[in-house]
Amino acid sequence: MSVQPYIPSGGLTGKLVRMNARLRARRPMTFALDRPIISITFDDFPRSAVTHGRAALSNRGWLGTWYAASGFTAGDTHHGAMMTCDDIRTLAEAGHEIACHTHSHTDSARTPVEALLADIDRNADALHQAAPALKLENYAFPFGEASPASKTALQARFSTLRGVRPGVNRTGDDLNLLKAVGIDGGQDGLDRVLDWIGDAQRKPGWLILYAHDIQDSPTDWGCTPREFEMVLEAVARSAADVLTVRDAVKAIGA
Ligand SMILES: [Zn+2]
Repeated sequence: MSVQPYIPSGGLTGKLVRMNARLRARRPMTFALDRPIISITFDDFPRSAVTHGRAALSNRGWLGTWYAASGFTAGDTHHGAMMTCDDIRTLAEAGHEIACHTHSHTDSARTPVEALLADIDRNADALHQAAPALKLENYAFPFGEASPASKTALQARFSTLRGVRPGVNRTGDDLNLLKAVGIDGGQDGLDRVLDWIGDAQRKPGWLILYAHDIQDSPTDWGCTPREFEMVLEAVARSAADVLTVRDAVKAIGA
């Protein structure tokens, strides 16, 4: 049984909330690269991403970062069947980075910080039960929705906090709200991803991509296995270093 997706506040209110979150509680980074870094990440995440994403990355000898929301474990959402404890364990054992979302996929712009922290603790506990040796070093805000208070509260706990505002991360950009580009939106979305890869190549920076479901009939937030492969093909052509978020943080010396 699928559930309807939650949509964060839109309109002017949503825009102002997002702008306020963007401009405050920043942790700007400084780095220079000779060639781009690209991180391929997965949010939530559906089983279809594990099946297709893991295989496609491993064909190229690459590792990904998987932002897990434990409340979805073995469940079913609008993305389809979701990851299992076994997926968490086997991904971690294969060297992929398991990173932190929240247990309940919380909208941080609308949740008091104490409740957000409790939900992150619950997520971390559940993920550690699946894979006891996990170190959760990086975090993604569900829906990309942040607040200055949540950025401040989480910056001591995680190396980076990721949003969903598209762009390439460069000097001056915010470790507390990393830019990231969704692999979604059909042909137009694919074209945008390819443009951002070109942008990261022309002026080397750190590009983070994120995927949700990867299936033949994807949701608005997903892509097909063929589209995913076309993205990886472009990443390979860019001669970027393909690194997990954890390894990218080390590479830029953040
Ligand atoms: Zn998410």
